[in-house]
Parts: sequence; structure tokens; C-alpha cells
Amino acid sequence: MTIAAAYGPDRVALSFELFPPKTDQGDAALLKHVARLMEFRPSFVTCTYGAGGSTQDKTLQIVSRVHQDFDVPVATHLTCVGSTADQLRSYLSDAVAAGVQNVVALRGDPPKGEEQFRQTAGGFAYANELVAMIRGEFPTLGIAVAGYPEVHQEAPSREADLENLKRKVDAGADAVITQLFYDNQDFFRFRDDCRRAGIEAPIVPGLLPITNTAQIKRITALCGARLPAELVDRLEAAGEDPDSQFEAGVEIATRQTVELLDQGVPGIHYYVLNKSEAASRVLQSVNLRG
Ligand code: FAD
Repeated sequence: MTIAAAYGPDRVALSFELFPPKTDQGDAALLKHVARLMEFRPSFVTCTYGAGGSTQDKTLQIVSRVHQDFDVPVATHLTCVGSTADQLRSYLSDAVAAGVQNVVALRGDPPKGEEQFRQTAGGFAYANELVAMIRGEFPTLGIAVAGYPEVHQEAPSREADLENLKRKVDAGADAVITQLFYDNQDFFRFRDDCRRAGIEAPIVPGLLPITNTAQIKRITALCGARLPAELVDRLEAAGEDPDSQFEAGVEIATRQTVELLDQGVPGIHYYVLNKSEAASRVLQSVNLRG
């Protein structure tokens, strides 16, 4: 199934995002977690693409393994960082040959130690250019792009960011998956703004169930997402105990999920950080399967 077909009026499509493990033990553990997540019948599973294409082979290996072992549609993330257009084409040809049906098409962040994204000679400057290439040359692939309820960190304004998102959708993206956020009002406002800007593609919220307070403070600082004060209070009330932090995270993600479903989202994309426990608890408690 492609991302284009995953979202429809009578269903809520679930997807899970993985990242490439660094060790063989990490691979084995990941596959066990994915096996548990299959219970929730995801429409597709994605795997991130490391900075500067550093995990290229590993990303492809993970998505093809998950596709083979679990017979589930997969999406490879792909960024423009450090690659020429021809190198991106070559990766996409390998991905298609490995049975990959979808791409999460991104510009990518600057490599470690660099402040600004720099276009590779013969490469792309923005994700919309990558989307256009994929749509033109790999027409069978489903394409998702990134959206930012709290505005992308480099965008000069909210309006400019929406115009850029529209450019990606007009270039051929089938769906928008959002950056993680912890205040649903930010998502609803973004969705309304997208519709006003003429973006008709499904807008899919990306949720990261918190499992550790220190970790989520690091992640949100890096990607520019806001942790609302009441949520910080809830996490701080959990103290240093890992189990209490986990329980607080499940409670927060469950509340977010329930409200998003009530407001008719086409699907939910869970950033599961290669684990199954938190997402499983949330999905069990709302009794949601794809
Ligand atoms: P773009 O859409 O190209 O936007 C980048 C910036 O440029 C924005 O500020 C935008 O407003 C502006 N812009 C866009 N087009 C134009 C234009 N034509 N003219 C002027 N300005 C423009 N990173 C990874 O390295 N690997 C991953 O696997 C990965 N997966 C992700 C998955 C999701 C769902 C999300 C939300 C993010 C992911 N990221 C990943 C992070 C992403 O790479 C960064 O947020 C990156 O900084 C921007 O990528 P983009 O595709 O949104 O870029």
C-alpha cells in the first residue's frame, strides 16, 4: 500500500517511525519491538535517514527487512543532505528494487558541526525539488513530506513556511506528517492554516510518547518543539523514577491521541524510538488499530 492509499474517509491509518540501530543487537531488539507493534495493524512503517546520508545502507536494510518479515508497507526517509540528484536517484532505484513503496522526502538538517544547510553541487536546495524529482521519475512511490505545527526553525514566518509546504504538496506529495508537538491546539491551528492555504493533502499528526523526562527535553530543544508548562509540571511530579516518568508519558500521549481522534485526524504517526511499550500502551488504552 502507498501512503496515497493509506488515508481514507472511513479509517484511521497508523504508522510507526523507526531509526537505524547501530549494532546487530540493536537490529534484533528492533525487530522484536516491531513484531509487537504489528498487533496494531499499521498502514506503513518508516525508517529515518541519518545526517548526511550516513545511514543510507542501514535505512534501506531496515525497511526492506521490516517489509519482508512482517509483510507491511514501508517508507524510507530520504534527505538531500550531501547527495547529488543522481545519487538520490540511485538510492531510490535500489529502494524500489527492495520493495519499498513510499518515501518520506526531506531536505534534512545541516550535518553535525555545521550551522546551515548547504546545497550539494548537483543536488537539491529544498524538499520540494526532491518531491518533484520522485514524482516525475518514480511515479509509483507514495510520498510524505514534513510539516511544522510550530513553524520550521529556519522559516522567516508562519506564512512563508505554509507557502513552502504548499510547494511540496503541489510538487506531488500525498500526505504531510508533522513534527512532534505536545499541544494539540498547535496542530489544529496548523491544520486550519493548511486548508486556508489550499493544502488539501491529509495532515497527519506525529506523536512521540514521552518515556523519559531528560530525553524529551533534549529532543524538543533540538527540533524546536514546545513542552507546555502543565506538561512539564506533570513530568516533574513524576520525579526521578523511570517508571513514573513512563506512566506520565503514556498518560499524556493517550490524552493527545484521544483528542486528535475526536477531531477527525486521518491517521497518527508515532515516533516510537525503536521501542514498542509506550505506543502499545497508548493504542491499547484507546483501543485503536489501523
Ligand atoms: P524543507 O521543506 O525544504 O524546508 C526547509 C526550510 O526551508 C523551511 O524553513 C522552509 O520554510 C524553507 N523552504 C522550503 N522550501 C523553500 C523554498 N523553495 N524557498 C525558500 N525557503 C524554503 N531529518 C533527517 O535528517 N532524517 C530524517 O529521516 C528525518 N525525518 C523527518 C521526518 C518528519 C516527519 C519530520 C517532521 C522531520 C524529519 N527530519 C529528518 C527533520 C528535517 O530534515 C528537518 O526539519 C529539516 O530542517 C527540514 O526538512 P524539510 O524537508 O522540512 O525541509
